[in-house]
Amino acid sequence: MSENKKIWLSSPHMSDEGYEMQYIREAFDANWVAPLGTNVNEFERELARKVGALNAAALTSGTAATHLALRAVGVGPGDIVLCPTLTFSATVNPIIYQNATPVFVDSDIETWNMDPKALETALEKYGERVKAVIVVHLYGLSANMDPIMESCRKHNVTVIEDAAESLGAYYKGRHTGTFGKYGVFSFNGNKIITTSGGGMLVSDDEERIQKVRFWATQSRDSARHYQHSELGYNYRMSNIVAGIGRGQLKVLDQRVAKKRYIFEYYRRELGQLGGVNFMPVNEWNEPNFWLTVMTLSGKVRPLDIMEALEADNIESRPVWKPMHMQPFFSKYDCIGGNVSEKLFENGVCLPSDTKMTDEDLERVCGIIKGLWE
Ligand SMILES: *Cc1c(COP(=O)(O)O)cnc(C)c1O
Repeated sequence: MSENKKIWLSSPHMSDEGYEMQYIREAFDANWVAPLGTNVNEFERELARKVGALNAAALTSGTAATHLALRAVGVGPGDIVLCPTLTFSATVNPIIYQNATPVFVDSDIETWNMDPKALETALEKYGERVKAVIVVHLYGLSANMDPIMESCRKHNVTVIEDAAESLGAYYKGRHTGTFGKYGVFSFNGNKIITTSGGGMLVSDDEERIQKVRFWATQSRDSARHYQHSELGYNYRMSNIVAGIGRGQLKVLDQRVAKKRYIFEYYRRELGQLGGVNFMPVNEWNEPNFWLTVMTLSGKVRPLDIMEALEADNIESRPVWKPMHMQPFFSKYDCIGGNVSEKLFENGVCLPSDTKMTDEDLERVCGIIKGLWE
């Protein structure tokens, strides 16, 4: 194994100013370490304002946020929920938690996200059984929301956006996660900003968000004794974790700028290599460039790149393996063609860590270029 400095795909990057520690210290000084408190309330308010939503509930993870969004829509046994096949399993698992059935939709090569035409086909095929659609904005690229929202309106289906990877990404000037009734954000360790682990559910529907906060704190009725009339969860974010989130939110724009710089660096240095293409950036999307992803159509394969980088202590990764190809999910229907399969086969996520220096980027590019010589 190489002794060279490790380069990560995307690792936590706290602010140089120490904002996160300031908020944590305030919580300690007030002994507000337990759930709830100022940091939680303020993180909800600040995140909602940043993305342009009216309300937000801070939760333990993005997965928990998707779970409670499905519950807020009333998804249950017998219902179908449509979602892209090209995503992380955390998009799909909550559908199963609610005892509903996922049906997968293929990607659109223009966006890599849910294909609006395949979505329309799926909505027509399953009709009234479809209770919700989860749209994902993968790698911080926005899905093509106009035709997707139009189809969902036409079929009267609620939209949940899994914006776990797209904080700081916009579609036609509007923040991803604010088109559907619900938007989900994640602050897991490798996301564009992190709280070590955490999530947020946003919505303009104040009543539903209050209900989500209630479910997330074990559904405790307002009574002196412990009383429960509904199933509850322990999904609420702690005041310490929220303090990290408040500090990280202050540097989100800086992180997006650096991610964009990394993307442009790779595109400039590697774009001329035979068979290399980069993820699609359309004139109507403003990605956060969470990860730079390229596809290969020539002799050099993704595995060649991943192995060459790994030998030099550099982390990279394949594109998400489509859900319909996963042992656990293969029994569910998948609508559309094979775009997601091709992206999985040909795609590689390059190290996109915001702490990378120009020297680090040069090192990565040098190794990759070497495979073409
Ligand atoms: C990270 C991620 C999630 C889950 O978020 P957690 O906070 O880790 O639960 C959901 N969907 C996608 C697409 C993700 O990348």
